[in-house]
Amino acid sequence: MDLMLSLDEKKFKEYCRNFAKEKLVPISERYGETDDVPEELVKAMADAGLFKLFLSEDLGGKGVKALPICLAREELAGVYCLADVTLAMQGLGSYPLFLVGNREQKNRYLTRIGFGELLTTYALTEPEAGSDVNAMKSEAQETSGGFTLNGKKRFISNGYAADIVVVFAKTPLPDNPRAISAFLLEKGMPGFTVSERMKLIASHDIAELKFDDCHIPRDNLLGKMGEGYSIAMRTLEVFRMSVGAAAVGIARTAFDAALSYAKKRVQFGRPIAEYQAIQFKLAEMATELDAARALVYRAAIRKDQGGADVSRAASMAKYYATEVAFRAVDQGLQIHGGLGVTKGSIVERLYREVRALRIYEGTSEIQRLIIANSLLKD
Ligand SMILES: Cc1cc2nc3c(=O)[nH]c(=O)nc-3n(C[C@H](O)[C@H](O)[C@H](O)COP(=O)(O)OP(=O)(O)OC[C@H]3O[C@@H](n4cnc5c(N)ncnc54)[C@H](O)[C@@H]3O)c2cc1C
Repeated sequence: MDLMLSLDEKKFKEYCRNFAKEKLVPISERYGETDDVPEELVKAMADAGLFKLFLSEDLGGKGVKALPICLAREELAGVYCLADVTLAMQGLGSYPLFLVGNREQKNRYLTRIGFGELLTTYALTEPEAGSDVNAMKSEAQETSGGFTLNGKKRFISNGYAADIVVVFAKTPLPDNPRAISAFLLEKGMPGFTVSERMKLIASHDIAELKFDDCHIPRDNLLGKMGEGYSIAMRTLEVFRMSVGAAAVGIARTAFDAALSYAKKRVQFGRPIAEYQAIQFKLAEMATELDAARALVYRAAIRKDQGGADVSRAASMAKYYATEVAFRAVDQGLQIHGGLGVTKGSIVERLYREVRALRIYEGTSEIQRLIIANSLLKD
């Protein structure tokens, strides 16, 4: 796997691993399982420069590259899921700005996102529009000074903590009645509320957002009218593969815990690691983990080098890595026997945390559809 990374990339990965061990472990222990994003966590991540991954070169960043985002998520996700989601959302909410934001919008928001002064999120999903994005009902009607937005978004990660939100809404055009546009909304704009905080099986700041005659100034339109669907999909293409990276990180933590436990736990007079049934589980976990990581790195390298079929590679990475991670956590838990299901054990927490990864940013079913469509098109 090392062959796929340059020396600088290996150093960056190690930097993230040390940051997770030295800074995130104590913060996660202090706050426990919570749905609130601790300020101390945001500050630590900002101080470590992690949000600068989302800064364009003209604003002092290195340009937004998929591989470093994946390397960071791989190192964070298995240690502290709230940190991983915070990083991912900072990326999902800022990438549209990076892609199509004008100079004034980038100056106003992007630098502050890169320094962790503003938290952001990405709001696409609605009660009637999950996998089927085009079924969205939120609509922004053009007025003299801008737009009036009405509608609802559901399952919005960082929905409570975020200061600014990229919202996708229908803006019917004469030649395209299903057109979607992207808008930048600030918390506190009249008519914009966090209508409900949702509760998941694992720690996650996630909420429902509501827009009642919310006035959006024209300056807050992102990109061109009708460009929203393309902005949403181009953003997902990058962040989908990084969900695969987070899955690899979670699987690695489960594998390490299982390997260490198997060597210590004695039954029938021998460590259980000496039984072939356990050895086969460990062998499968390690093999699938390496294969998943290779798919994630391949997708990210292809994206960063401007290669072909990035969308297919991203879907393969997300699909395979999240399925592998779920199996690895399940097998890791099995190796722990009864202790695996006790509240507070590492594998019990991972078991709850890993589940959502097969759903968000496109379910495993949708990833397979994307892969198959791309194969059939060829
Ligand atoms: C933890 C979490 C965080 C999230 N964060 C965000 C966020 O920050 N921003 C945001 O916009 N959204 C977010 N989402 C929403 C997420 O992207 C959607 O949940 C996801 O796209 C699936 O939509 P749905 O839940 O409506 O399921 P549905 O689309 O209703 O799907 C239900 C089932 O039907 C299957 N299915 C649907 N259509 C097909 C088909 N054509 N063929 C085969 N099977 C199909 C699905 O695979 C699934 O198994 C988040 C979700 C979760 C769970």
